[in-house]
This record gives sequence, C-alpha cells and structure tokens, in this order.
Amino acid sequence: MISDLALTRKEVGLLSPANRGRIKGIIQAGKNLNKLVSVAPAYINLDPTWRCNFTCSGCVDGRVVSRQGQYHVDQAVDLDWNVCQDLINYAKFHGVYGFVVQGGEPLLYNKIDDFLLACRASEIILRLVTNGTQIISHGESLVSTFSGTASYLRVSINWDSAHYDQHTGSKNSLRQVLTGIEFLAQRGIRVVVSSVVFGRKAEEYGLPVNIDQMGDIVSLVRSSGASRLYLRPGKVPSTQAMIPLSEAELANLESFDEDKGLEVCLPDFSQFRQADLPQNKDYPFCPTSFFRIVVGPDAGIYACTSHRGVPAARLAQIQPGQTFTDVWHSVERVRKQLQFSPVQHCRDNTCDKHRFNTLVIDAREEFERSGSSTLLDNLCLSINSPAVLRF
Ligand code: SF4
Repeated sequence: MISDLALTRKEVGLLSPANRGRIKGIIQAGKNLNKLVSVAPAYINLDPTWRCNFTCSGCVDGRVVSRQGQYHVDQAVDLDWNVCQDLINYAKFHGVYGFVVQGGEPLLYNKIDDFLLACRASEIILRLVTNGTQIISHGESLVSTFSGTASYLRVSINWDSAHYDQHTGSKNSLRQVLTGIEFLAQRGIRVVVSSVVFGRKAEEYGLPVNIDQMGDIVSLVRSSGASRLYLRPGKVPSTQAMIPLSEAELANLESFDEDKGLEVCLPDFSQFRQADLPQNKDYPFCPTSFFRIVVGPDAGIYACTSHRGVPAARLAQIQPGQTFTDVWHSVERVRKQLQFSPVQHCRDNTCDKHRFNTLVIDAREEFERSGSSTLLDNLCLSINSPAVLRF
C-alpha cells in the first residue's frame, strides 16, 4: 500500500505539486519518444568543476574528483562558461526549480563569481555544497547571491580540530572554514553545516570513525554562527549504502538535538531502514533521471549523482556550439535514457529514489492498461510539500 511507504525526503520532493505535470507527462507518454522529449528536468545537479583541494577520507565522489580519479590533479576540469550561461537561461525559461551545485569543490570553478551573480539575476534557487575553504575569497559574490533568497549554502565539516587535517589532506584549513562561516553569518546569510557521521561499523569498510568527535564538531559549528547542523549517515563510497549506527550511537547523537541555539537535525531514520529494503530495480528505465540530472564539468549529462562521470550513465553530451535544449529535447537523448538499465548499472547501488521509480513505473503500466493513473494521483494528492530543492 502506498500509505505504508516510508518515502525518503528526496522522494517527497520529487512528488511535490510543482512536479505533477512532469510526472503525468512521463506516465501518459508511455513509450512515445516524441512525447517524452518535451519533459524538462525539474532539478539540475550542476558540478561546475571536479577539481578539489581536499582528499577527504570516505568521499563519495572520489571517482570523478580530480585528485583521485580519471583526471589528474593538475588538469583543469571546469565547465565551459558558454555551457554554464546556457544552462542558466534554460533553467530560467523552462521552470527548472533550481541547481544543486556540488563537484569537486564548486568555489574553485574559474567562473564561480560570474556564475553566482548570473544565478541571482535570473532568480535561480541554489543549494551550494562547499568545503568552505574558499568562502572568504568569494565573500562579496556569496553575500550578493545568497542574501534575502531561498538559496543557501551547506558547508561540510566532518572532523574535529584534532583530526581535520589528517582526514581532509589539508593543512590548517579548519580555521579558514570557520572564519568563512562567521563572515557569512555576520552578514545575515543562512549557512547550514553538515557532518557525515561514521559510527564504528564504518571500520568494516575501511573508513575512519568520527562518532566520538561529534561533541567537538557541534561546539565548533555552534561557535561559527551557522544556523543549523545536519548530521547525515555515512555511506559506503562504492555502493552509496548507508552505514548503520548502533542504538547507543544514535542515542549519543540525540543528546545534541537542542544545543544552545544551534538546531541539530538528526539523521533521517528512514534512510537507515532503506538499506534493508529490496533494491532489485527491476524497472525498465530510471524515471528519476527524467526529473533530476547531473551536468558535469565535461558538459556530459548523467543519469544520477551515483553515476557521475560513468560513460554508461551519460545520457547525452553537449558538444561545442550546441545548447542544452538541442541535446535534452532530442529523441537521441530519450532513446539513450530508456536504454540505461538500472538493473544492470545500479545493481550494487542503494538507491534513495527506488520507491519513487517503482511508483512511476507502476502508474505508467496502470495508465497503459486503463487510461488513468489513480495510483500516482492518490499519492501526489497525499503529499502537500512545496517544491523543495534537496541536497
Ligand atoms: S541509482 Fe540508478 S535507479 Fe537510482 S536514481 Fe540513480 S540511476 Fe536511477
């Protein structure tokens, strides 16, 4: 039963009223490529660069980030500015709800100030995830872009001061990060911090444990002036599966719930439960990839954040002289998207959109059979969340 489903926060966001037209478009198009072509993505995960100045332990994007993966550290891998401007125009005129800007470290992008200000001028909502080391260098643009909007930044701090350099591969940068947060907070910019929590079980995957550092991390974040701290469950880099915490570890986190003015948001427990759900992904294509896509600095359009830089998940490539519209609204892209097989390519991945995908596929089959889609209509009506851009 739909009502029994524990949807993830991302799935609730995908089912929000703002997306209903898109969802219906996919369901009613069935296998008609010409109809599927017209559905614009709702969210774009935009990676303007895959360069990073850190070498963090347990980085889930280590496959593409320049210091470890297929690109050598000193090769510039930055998105062509013409492609970037075109994406901003596309988002503005096609009802794209916003950009989740990640990478790599996005504040290292060679056109980051121009990008931020252009997004602000076009009223595009941003969620920008940064390691925080470059905030002061781009302080003016960040303040102009993020003040008085629904956009906000998220700074990752995963280690306390005693372990920070060791696990980020940097020297003395925690001070820079905290100074950057203070700078923004003093100017009224909403900054949230996230910490990925690695409990003792992380050791089984060769990852460092930080659960005992949480008290110090909470104190650092509180003193920086950030408004909120999200504690997020650690993931196995190769499969994205959540690493569970023990009851005692969860109880330890709960003790930070209210921390002297800092709002501490505990891990979404449904995210832990999803690790136990069947992840057979026996749907013929991935519906989520019609709504939320990744555009990489190589101008490739990828099916999902779990497959950044993976050739099989590259739905299309924006070639020099082409626009995003040329590429996205093309039969070739849809054909490639329908050929991308979750059973084959996501078999080992824990997918946090699994139930959404199953529902859309079931609703599509129901529509084919009966000419209506009560399954999804009912679910959409039961979810009243506004369009929310989730990191
Ligand atoms: S993991 Fe696979 S099935 Fe899940 S959203 Fe990503 S591409 Fe789609």
